Parts: sequence; structure tokens; C-alpha cells
Amino acid sequence: MGTHRDVELLAIGAGPANLALAIAIEELAGDDLARDSLVIEQADTVSWQRGMLLPEAQSQVSFLKDLVTLRNPRSRFSFVNYLHSVGQLSEFINMGSFWPYRLEISKYFQWVANSLAKVRVEYRRRCGTVEPRRDANGAVTGWLTRLSDGSTIGSRYLVVGAGRDPFVPTEFATLPAHRVVHSSDYLPRISQYPKDVPYRVAVIGGAQSAAEMFDAVQRDLPGCRPTMIMRSIGLKTYENSRFTNELYFPSAVDDFFTARPEAREQILREMHITNYSGLAPEMLEKLYRQLYLDRLTGEHRLRIVTMTDVTAACDDGDEVVLELTDRRTGAVDELRCDLVLLGTGFVRQMPALVRSLANSLGLSRIDVTRNYRLRVDGPVTGACYLQGVNEATHGIADSLLSVLAVRASDIVEDILANRDTDGAEPMAAHLAPVHAS
Ligand SMILES: Cc1cc2nc3c(=O)[nH]c(=O)nc-3n(C[C@H](O)[C@H](O)[C@H](O)COP(=O)(O)OP(=O)(O)OC[C@H]3O[C@@H](n4cnc5c(N)ncnc54)[C@H](O)[C@@H]3O)c2cc1C
Repeated sequence: MGTHRDVELLAIGAGPANLALAIAIEELAGDDLARDSLVIEQADTVSWQRGMLLPEAQSQVSFLKDLVTLRNPRSRFSFVNYLHSVGQLSEFINMGSFWPYRLEISKYFQWVANSLAKVRVEYRRRCGTVEPRRDANGAVTGWLTRLSDGSTIGSRYLVVGAGRDPFVPTEFATLPAHRVVHSSDYLPRISQYPKDVPYRVAVIGGAQSAAEMFDAVQRDLPGCRPTMIMRSIGLKTYENSRFTNELYFPSAVDDFFTARPEAREQILREMHITNYSGLAPEMLEKLYRQLYLDRLTGEHRLRIVTMTDVTAACDDGDEVVLELTDRRTGAVDELRCDLVLLGTGFVRQMPALVRSLANSLGLSRIDVTRNYRLRVDGPVTGACYLQGVNEATHGIADSLLSVLAVRASDIVEDILANRDTDGAEPMAAHLAPVHAS
């Protein structure tokens, strides 16, 4: 039987969201809460979107939107202080860019985890399931988290910051695992294929991740012949008007949260092209030049297929057969390939971990307050907070770095405001108006 221990606050996942939270706990809460807070991470290090940590990829938000600066510009946990600590500040300034390489942001996140003085981070701890703990009256008093090594951790507060689940369209779900790679797994998986085989590679999707894989696979499998297949009319840059970019400000969350459902829908619809379906301009330029040169040299190794749905996929022994349906004509064709790379993004609905927790709470819908606290029916003295999965209620920036410094303090302040009740006063389950989402 596994071991059991209790902490006051358990945070699942040492991604940027929970690292920002750990900083906020150290800076805003007392020693007692900070020293009784634990962050668990399934991997053996901190890494930012490790499957796509490509050497040349740059962050799409300003370095000033780090884990803390928008909340506390004087914090020792800033990206600028990291650069100073590792002797990189002068070079970074000299680069003259607001958009660091994802690699250096990832190293900054690991530096933050190593620099925490009170909140502990433990690696190789994978959360399997979470269930509520209740007192004799049925009130939720906290959470029991079961780890995959069989041990359990009890906590009054739980903060889930475990990212989103990869989206694998049903057409690809039955293909053998060695034939399909989702972008979230790209780097570790692609390194397992022999470099000298002339793989026929199908890259599915028309947004940034698909484009990055289409580019990277030319280097990672030098003999391969990649074909990129997308539904849209062609690759386009993401929209980056300074006006609409203000909707990524932390201060935009209040407006979004209190907006009417139809207004939220309009905002998310219009903002889609600013985040999800477009490419960074440099990537677009690079890909166009690659295709141009490919034609110019007569190599004809690269191909981009637009306005096309993959309507079926099957394993045909030595290869995969994709059924392609042309959206313009309805004509059906097939593409035979060896490997499918999925740039299909992430599941829109709540991650499986959160859905299963909601199930064990008997919730008919998953909804959070303005301060990210899961709404639970009946009296509660424990609380669970959800990070990075509340785009529908908190706006387009919810899954990005843009808001997480401020969001971390929203959560910590919510905990501090209710913590002294010691269970005597049930925490109000509903602190803000509910809107359908
Ligand atoms: C390729 C790519 C590029 C991106 N680029 C940008 C960008 O430039 N700017 C931007 O603002 N956003 C970007 N994003 C959005 C990204 O979601 C956020 O930047 C950020 O990573 C979200 O942080 P998070 O902590 O919520 O989740 P994540 O970064 O996904 O971190 C979750 C952590 O939880 C761990 N974990 C998961 N499940 C468990 C478990 N069961 N038990 C224990 N640990 C677990 C994971 O290993 C991971 O370390 C990008 C996303 C992708 C996929």
C-alpha cells in the first residue's frame, strides 16, 4: 500500500500557471501556508510545452508578461532577474526583441522552480485521480489526490494547472500508435525514428503547431517528404492589432466575466484568429520561401493541400491510407503515408482529470467563480481552483501566459479571504453571478 501525507495546498502540474501561483503564495501568503504548499509535476524537470520546445521557436507574448511582473514588477522572480542571474541580460537587450525564444522562457521557468524558498516542487509525481473529502454532514472539507505510484496526498486546497488534453480527431484514433504523433509529443517521439528513411509524412492542420512541425520535420527526418493538409483556404498570419490585443490584458477578464453570453461568444469568435488559427508572420514567410525553393530546384519534396478534410484513415500494413475529401468539389482522393503528425490542437472541453473530479462531486456542470474556484453544491470548507481551462468564462487569454501573474494573486487572495474560517463558517459556494457558458 502507498504512503499518505497531508498538505494544506496541493498544486497539480509545475507548468507556468502553478509556478506563478507558487510565487504569489511566497509573496502574498504567510509562511505557514507557503511552507505547507506542494507542487507536483509528472515529469522529471520543468519544461515549457516540452513536445514542441523547438530550438528556433519564439514566445508569442512579451517577456514582460512573465510569471510575476504584471502583478509585482519588483519581484525577484522576474524574467529580467533570471537573465541577470545567468549572465544573459546584456545579450538579451542587444537582441532588441520582446519575444524571447521558448527555450529561454522554459529555462526561466525551471530557474523559478529552483529558486522558490518555501513552496516545494516534487518531480516524477503524476496525479491519477482526485476525489473530494467530506465531513460527517457531507460538507466538502478538502481533496484526496491519488498518484500513479499508489501514494495519496490530502489537501484542503487544490489547484489544478495540468494543461489541456491533446485533441486527436476520431479519424486518427484507431491508427497504430507508431504511425501517429500529436504535436504535444513531437520532440520525444520524432527522435525515435531513423533519420535516413525517406518517410512520407502527412502533417494535419493549418495553424502554428502544424506549421512548426512541417518546418521541423524537414530537419529532424532529412529524407522525408512532408505534405501539409488543412481545411482552410491557405496559411495566414494571426491577427495582431494593438487594439484587440488589449483583450489579452489581465484587466479584460472582469469585462469578459460579466459580459452577456452572446457577447462572450462574439469576443471569442472574433479573437480566434489572434491566437488559434494563424501563424507568426516569420513562420509564414519561411514556409513560403521553402516551397518556392522546392519548386525552383525541381525537388518537389514539399506539398501543401488546402480546403481538404481527412474523412477517414486506416492502417494498410506497411502504410497509412488517408481519405482526402476536397471541400471545393467533393472529390475523394487518397494519400498514402508512413507517418501522421497531428497539429490538431487541444480538447476544448475540460480535461479528463477535471471531468472525473466533477463526476465524483456529482456536479452537472463545471463552472468556476471569478476567482477560478470550482463551484460545488452545498457547504464547503475546502476549495479547488482551475487554471488555464476557463476561456469560456474568463476570456481568450486564459490558456496563455498573459494573465497568469495576476490570476495567481486572484487565487491566493481568494484562499486567504476564506482560510481563517477553519471550517466553522462554510465558504460561500457562489461568489459571483453565473452565466451560461
Ligand atoms: C506549442 C505551444 C506554444 C505555445 N506558445 C505560447 C506562447 O508563445 N505564449 C503564450 O502565452 N502561450 C503559449 N502557449 C499556450 C500555453 O498553454 C501556455 O503558455 C502555458 O503553457 C499554459 O500553462 P499551464 O501551466 O496552464 O499548462 P502547461 O504549460 O501545459 O503545464 C502543465 C504541467 O502539468 C504537468 N501535468 C499534466 N498532467 C499532470 C498530472 N496528471 N500530474 C502531474 N503533473 C501533470 C505537465 O507535465 C506540465 O508540466 C503555447 C502552447 C503550445 C502548445
